[in-house]
Amino acid sequence: MSQLVDPHVAVLAFPRGTHAAPLLAIIDRLASASPKTLFSFFGTAQSNNSIFFSTSQPTPPNVKAYNVDDGVPEGYVFVGKPQEDIELFMEVAPQNLRKAMELAVEESGRKVSCLVADAFFWFAKQIAVENGVPWVSFWTAGACSLSSHVYTDLIREKFGVGGIVGREDETLNFIPGMSKVRIRDLPEGIVLGNLESFFSRMLHRMGQVLPEATAVFLNSCEELDPDRTTDLKSKFKQYLNVGPFILATPPPSVPDPYGCLTWLDKQKPATVVYISFGSVVTPPPNELVALAEAVEAIQVPFIWSLRDKSKVHLPNGFLERANGMVVPWAPQRDVLAHGAVGVFITHGGWNSLVESIAGGVPMIFRPFFGDHGVNGRMVEDVWEIGVIVESGVLTKNGIMRGLDLILAQEKGKKMRENLKEVVALAQISVGANGSSTKNFKKLLDLVCSQNHA
Ligand code: UDP
Repeated sequence: MSQLVDPHVAVLAFPRGTHAAPLLAIIDRLASASPKTLFSFFGTAQSNNSIFFSTSQPTPPNVKAYNVDDGVPEGYVFVGKPQEDIELFMEVAPQNLRKAMELAVEESGRKVSCLVADAFFWFAKQIAVENGVPWVSFWTAGACSLSSHVYTDLIREKFGVGGIVGREDETLNFIPGMSKVRIRDLPEGIVLGNLESFFSRMLHRMGQVLPEATAVFLNSCEELDPDRTTDLKSKFKQYLNVGPFILATPPPSVPDPYGCLTWLDKQKPATVVYISFGSVVTPPPNELVALAEAVEAIQVPFIWSLRDKSKVHLPNGFLERANGMVVPWAPQRDVLAHGAVGVFITHGGWNSLVESIAGGVPMIFRPFFGDHGVNGRMVEDVWEIGVIVESGVLTKNGIMRGLDLILAQEKGKKMRENLKEVVALAQISVGANGSSTKNFKKLLDLVCSQNHA
């Protein structure tokens, strides 16, 4: 006779950029909603340490972290290749994750009943097949970049792979929801840049196999991207927008060791510039100088999240003269939710974008790689809640014009109005009968359904 066993979900986290933290956020939510389900969360030691101990919210007892090897051989000397650490990790990730899963099964005495994996792990499909369980994939960014990867073959067919010089401003109007997106906005490795790099090949493969996943879910809401929602629903078996997480389950405040929030309390409403480029990017020194000169020239108050080692590039005496704070890490979500912040200068990572929307703060984008360009295009031309910085890089005049536009011009006012509409839609989606709430229930049923051993 078959015996009913409580579910055991294996969760595979990608350890770089801000991937693992939002995955843990949704897993915590699923775990709280289904206390009998065990979630084994696999990440590297460094990634697990930073996400499991960075929040004041305790992880539910049915979520257990397992460290997997980072793939860096002992004594290995980095040669400085781009994404070298990712490549090392990914090369051995399939066998390391399999090994870690075996350990979790042995320790818990429960077979794995579902596999939830970062979408970058396209090989998760095979692991799910081996275990006879559903493969549920988490796309950590927005729908626009997801479409870019799902449609890579079609985009390459249209534009070729031999270079697109002179065609960078052509739009992707043959893909639903992408009519404003230009070739130049696309993540590198689709038709621009090195198509044969490890990362390009990984994302290409991912776009091809994701339609075979039992479900794909993301930290967004259907209403933010209606055309694309309809399209991606037709591409995937289940396409579940379950966000924005920050509105669905507002996270508790994080520590504020540098006093950013008390400093903001003393500023006038919507006047402060918040500057941050996420967890990976630091702009080149000349752009840091341009940024410092711009905020100094117009005497605008600011909070700048800048790693200590980069402070050396700031102009002499800038920190003493500054009408603001330079901190190595800011409690960004709370900063963006503070009424004193009037504009966010960002690289355009998805988490930053969502947090800025939730805080009602218009953005100036300086895109660097990956999804930053398409996110910027959506912000500037579709939602009209920010701009991409002039010429795409930080120059003193370009920043000053962007700040003036948002802080002092009618257009900035209109962006804040647009933001209110976007936030209202997002609030409805996470409300009792909203689309994200319904999708979350579907995700919960799928991930936490019982396994008959
Ligand atoms: N972040 C933060 N403090 C900082 C800089 C960044 O808390 O000083 C957080 C931010 O709130 C966001 C994440 O780091 O949740 C950045 O994620 P995003 O997807 O924007 O960029 P990535 O780190 O993946 O490049």
